[in-house]
Amino acid sequence: MYLRYLCFPINVLGPGKRIGLWLTGCSKNCPGCMSVELRQRREDDEVSLVLVEQAIERCARKGASGITISGGEPFDQAEELALLVEWCEANITRDILVYTGYTQDELVGIRGARDVLAHIATLIDGPYVAELDDGIGARGSANQRVIDLCDLQDQRSCQNYDYEGVARERQAFHYGDHLFIAGLDGGQRKGSQLEDSQRKGIRIEGSQYREVSE
Ligand code: SF4
Repeated sequence: MYLRYLCFPINVLGPGKRIGLWLTGCSKNCPGCMSVELRQRREDDEVSLVLVEQAIERCARKGASGITISGGEPFDQAEELALLVEWCEANITRDILVYTGYTQDELVGIRGARDVLAHIATLIDGPYVAELDDGIGARGSANQRVIDLCDLQDQRSCQNYDYEGVARERQAFHYGDHLFIAGLDGGQRKGSQLEDSQRKGIRIEGSQYREVSE
């Protein structure tokens, strides 16, 4: 599969301490896209499912409570994604959140999408529309829907999480010579902008690690 970043702990995209995965490649072209750098795949983004699972297992041992998958467009590699979320649900957690620029109806025509939806708890769907970005919530714009696909009544943090009203925060992860900014107004910054980022109050969570490339 094609994956650029795997970060832990992420606590700005869903409840609890989460493992965040950013897949690469996107065939959509939403004006104002916040993840432009993840729309193009790079050769070194390609990693095996086994290595991704091993990295997720290591994060789980450190106390991860959920998994958030974004991109790029995760459903542009729906068949690989289905294998990953099925394994995650069976071995790590049922609390799996996936962002997509497709609507749930559009996903019906994508091979593998049905299998993804069978193994995740939450889908945030629909294209990002800059004019409808109200600056709050764990979805990028007000047209995007938070769709509950699995009963997580047993998980208190999920029950209380306000996807549509939570205040937005960002987290920065060192990543080679640049920072990766996780959150709904994130992106990629050069290392020289680190001080600037700190001045803006972005929390540095320690070294980001891309264990899948080891
Ligand atoms: S689907 Fe997501 S990554 Fe793709 S263009 Fe739209 S906002 Fe950007």
